[in-house]
Amino acid sequence: DRADIDREVQSVCPFCGVGCQVSVKIKDDRVKYIEGINGPANEGRLCVKGRFGFDYIHNAQRLTVPLVRREDAPAKGLNVDPANPWTHFREATWDEALDLAARGLVDLRSFYGGKSVAGFGSAKCTNEEAYLFQKLIRQGFKHNNVDHCTRLCHASSVAALMENVGSGAVTASFNEIENADIAIVIGANPTENHPVAATYFKQFAKRGGKLVVMDPRGQRGLQRHAWKELRFRPGTDVALLNAIMNVIVEEKLYDRQYIEGFTEGFFEFRDHIRAFTPERMAELCGIDPGTIREVARAYADARAGMIFWGMGVSQHIHGTDNARCLISLALLCGHVGRPGTGLHPLRGQNNVQGASDAGLIPQVMPDYQSVTDGEVRDLFRHIWRGTEIDAQPGLTVVEIMDRVYRGEIKGMYVLGENPAMSDPDVEHARKALAHLDHLVVQDIFLTETAMFADVILPASALPEKTGTTTNTNRQVQMIRRAVPTPGSAREDWAILVDLARRIGLDWDYSHPRDVFAEMKMSMFSLHHITWSRLEAEGAVTYPCKSPDEPGEAVVFGDGFPRRAGRAKFTPARVTPPAEVPDDTFPMILTTGRQLEHWHTGSMTRRAPVLDAVEPEATAGMHPATLRELGVAPGGRVRLTTRRGSLEVMARADRNVARDMVFLPFAFVEAAANILTNPALDPFGKIPEFKYSAVRVEAA
Ligand code: SF4
Repeated sequence: DRADIDREVQSVCPFCGVGCQVSVKIKDDRVKYIEGINGPANEGRLCVKGRFGFDYIHNAQRLTVPLVRREDAPAKGLNVDPANPWTHFREATWDEALDLAARGLVDLRSFYGGKSVAGFGSAKCTNEEAYLFQKLIRQGFKHNNVDHCTRLCHASSVAALMENVGSGAVTASFNEIENADIAIVIGANPTENHPVAATYFKQFAKRGGKLVVMDPRGQRGLQRHAWKELRFRPGTDVALLNAIMNVIVEEKLYDRQYIEGFTEGFFEFRDHIRAFTPERMAELCGIDPGTIREVARAYADARAGMIFWGMGVSQHIHGTDNARCLISLALLCGHVGRPGTGLHPLRGQNNVQGASDAGLIPQVMPDYQSVTDGEVRDLFRHIWRGTEIDAQPGLTVVEIMDRVYRGEIKGMYVLGENPAMSDPDVEHARKALAHLDHLVVQDIFLTETAMFADVILPASALPEKTGTTTNTNRQVQMIRRAVPTPGSAREDWAILVDLARRIGLDWDYSHPRDVFAEMKMSMFSLHHITWSRLEAEGAVTYPCKSPDEPGEAVVFGDGFPRRAGRAKFTPARVTPPAEVPDDTFPMILTTGRQLEHWHTGSMTRRAPVLDAVEPEATAGMHPATLRELGVAPGGRVRLTTRRGSLEVMARADRNVARDMVFLPFAFVEAAANILTNPALDPFGKIPEFKYSAVRVEAA
């Protein structure tokens, strides 16, 4: 009953990076339903996750008390029943749990040194929590081995953007598509993963905008709106994009004035790109030269063009090269810095932009200030009351897990991440987690990672906390506490403060606004963005030029934050995937998300409405492939790669190429990452989730 509420609170959806603003309707301190409100990114719209996925917060499996591992617990593993964990864990008071958590970490620090402890923070947390988490590791353990899921998501995109544009964030909001003539969406499936953004893309096409969808996997959602759909061969992004740029260079369709005024490295790039003719690249990427020329001319001739990309671009060992190509393409045509132009990696988790901005990255401090820069370390020594910052860039997610596996890292603090599901070659990560001498997990559910923990600290869902998050559009938004945490669970920032004090840090924050105030001392991106403004306005976009402007939706119209204000062309060569199909593993496995399920499923699989729609893992394959295997849709197949093997239900999907399998990674019963390849992009250190050689058999 929609009338049967006693209050409502305005906040932000907890799922994807679109950052839709919501009104949380509450009765007796329980969320009754959610409505979209007029946020800058969503203008009242919501998708199925935002509208119906809220009930995870009242799930009976929520952690409500601190848990500590029993002395007589069975060996660590995925053998814990979240509804009945008592043979493995016992209840503890907050004092006991925090003392145990801190003592275990401090003992490791004393005995083996600070680098024996590492931290994984989370893009599900607020900016303030992300900032506190990286500070706790850097200040408490004197190193930079702290990372989060951006490493598995857009680390390669950020590496390319930082290198060539000078900033890791988007150059324009996705809503700017309304001012574009042409938009390229490559390696992204926004209808499923950024559904509200997709509604703007579809409206753009309906108004006559040229929508170009480039993806090896077909898309039910966008393809009927597309002017061109280019289903190129998996892993051949550089071949396709270089061929498009070859046409623009050879036919002199580029924007000479823009290149001269705002870029560097063009002449070397022009010479490099000449080898990548459409005819030669067509053999690799599978797109005919005529289509390549048509798309190149349309993008170059357009008055304003945007490029959007997702993890189909970033999750490759050549993910940084893929993003370099997209940046070069936009620079060639001067499609940056004006309304309707821009580069926009669609950010995944709701606060992956903000958590990255807040410094939850091993190479950089808040606002991407390098740990190798002495002036930066001086600044933080001053703000953090004498703390010496380690000048050595830290280890990334997969590197940390490797050191854990080798016994070099012996303790971890994991806040809201689930590496027992999200790491590539996840059996390796699970063995590593089982090796740890001391694992502290702070989360809202007994996740697969928490099953390996020594201490579990019950934390807060987004509607239970106060703070800020930053969406894919660079919009910093206010999160308002709507309902209380269940039982004795606490807000994450408060848990972090108590734990930090126990490891010897003199933290005296009494509210997230205190943390935000400290963040502003080192983060120029937050200039003119104040807590009181956010409370009053709900959202402010960074960068913001004055206290009474909403912030800049489009940036870099007058130059880039690089040397001489110039962006850079970086040539990219075609690199094959880390492993290619052969007689033993003849097909290609690609992994991703589905509309109803979010990342490792810890929230959406506990949201009954969403789980009822999509209750079981399925491997998507072309009907012809299934016929060849002798498997009917709904039958069982066995997928095997060099890492492992699993059994899963087969789903007929014409959008999947005949030599491919698509597997979502939200289901622990058929955890896709048992199969994935941990090979890393050398720049972004992102694993190649989008391409593994696989054998498929009838089960
Ligand atoms: Fe939430 Fe993203 Fe859906 Fe918006 S598009 S309602 S932010 S999941």
